[in-house]
Amino acid sequence: MRVLYVEDEKFLADAVKHNLEKQGIDVDHAADSEEGLDMAVSGIYDCMILDIMLPKLSGIEILERVREKGISTPVIMLSALSEVEDKVRGLNSGADDYLAKPFKTAELVARINALLRRPAAVKDSIIKFGDLVFDEDQKTLNGETLTAKEAGIISELIKVNGKLIPKEFLLSKVWGGEAYGEDNYIEVYMSRLRKTMRKAGVKTQVKTSRGLGYKLVEA
Ligand code: CA
Repeated sequence: MRVLYVEDEKFLADAVKHNLEKQGIDVDHAADSEEGLDMAVSGIYDCMILDIMLPKLSGIEILERVREKGISTPVIMLSALSEVEDKVRGLNSGADDYLAKPFKTAELVARINALLRRPAAVKDSIIKFGDLVFDEDQKTLNGETLTAKEAGIISELIKVNGKLIPKEFLLSKVWGGEAYGEDNYIEVYMSRLRKTMRKAGVKTQVKTSRGLGYKLVEA
């Protein structure tokens, strides 16, 4: 677990970093708010802890820019002023939690753990048909990694649940405009996909209906 901690008070930062690391949490600390923002938008963190009162950019400004970029990493705001106004602003800007200083490290660790256990807008990326298990995010079919086009084809085939998909429809869905009239594209990729399916050891097959299209058939 990797956490970004933006805090200008060096003494506090060192103590918190030390204590979090004792709990097995890797901490990248930024004392400077602009440096902190650069690190925050990298998207590599599991959680961010942002002090509100910072020179230059405030923690809330960092948070706002992070959220503007569509980064949904859980954020805990810290503030010495345990004022309701700060808390409300922080939460309105998309913070997930708020901790008033002074706090105990154990409390911070508990909040981090609670946030990371809470699934962040989980979308089930697994779709199935017969013995096929396709992960749309990872683009894996029963553990085998697919190319983007293979993934596009199998995803469309699974979504119609065994119904026939006309070739033109599949072409337009997977290739968009770029393969108009290029029927061969699909044959080439279909044969690669079948090879991958054999490699994955699945029994379900893609059947070709000549001149009509394709469909999945359970073994
Ligand atoms: Ca501060």
